[in-house]
Amino acid sequence: MRKPFVAGNWKMNTDSRTGVELAEKIVSATQQIAGRTVDVALCPPFVYLQSVVGALSSSSIAVGAQDIYIETKGAFTGEISASMLKDIGCIYVLCGHSERRHVIGEPDELVGKKVTAAISGGLLPILCVGELLAEREADQTIEVVTRQIKTGLAGLGAEKLSAVTLAYEPVWAIGTGLTATPQQAQDVHSFIRELLGRMYDNRLAEQIRILYGGSAKPGNAADLMSQQDIDGLLVGGASLKADDFVAIIQAAVKE
Ligand code: PEP
Repeated sequence: MRKPFVAGNWKMNTDSRTGVELAEKIVSATQQIAGRTVDVALCPPFVYLQSVVGALSSSSIAVGAQDIYIETKGAFTGEISASMLKDIGCIYVLCGHSERRHVIGEPDELVGKKVTAAISGGLLPILCVGELLAEREADQTIEVVTRQIKTGLAGLGAEKLSAVTLAYEPVWAIGTGLTATPQQAQDVHSFIRELLGRMYDNRLAEQIRILYGGSAKPGNAADLMSQQDIDGLLVGGASLKADDFVAIIQAAVKE
């Protein structure tokens, strides 16, 4: 059985004090379940990673970064490598979040290189995929997700696939208050698992965790998690409120 996984993406929010306070509240409210019945990760802004690593040091909650660069070191002003993130205690990294694809302009190929660089540097990538509203309306969801997954995992051998978590995040549902219905999300999740089965093999595909992201909140988390192929949630806005995020973590536990 796949252990549920809930990750909070703080995006460009919090400051050094509020970030640590938020992390501490989440630790104390999830002591009984985090790392046991549900895996939890927090993804703060780069500059607060180290203090959040400290705040989580006595817990089983992991820290993730929101992005990385594809090179290991050198003249890449402003960029941060996987090995640097690993060095300060990061475990996960988001690759290809929709805001990086559609606001910053990252192409699919760069996202694929980031997935490979993350694994080479010892991090566990969370590869985010998802369609724009216009793409869903034009019936292109499967085509877009297929392209993003094939390019995102390009060159990744079967022996490395288990390092990857997938996150299906329909762009029209991110930060908008609109959530995909559990059935809409399940349909794409089950397609993704089938696609991974064709690209690799069914046994591996059954082991990979596929998270849903897009306005997940305490009120819809359990319904989303009740779906067979939804293994967890990638949470933006609601991860900034300790009570809401804790309620989502609790709702993600599948007995
Ligand atoms: C996200 O940033 O990955 C996300 C899903 O955001 P939100 O929960 O705010 O829609």
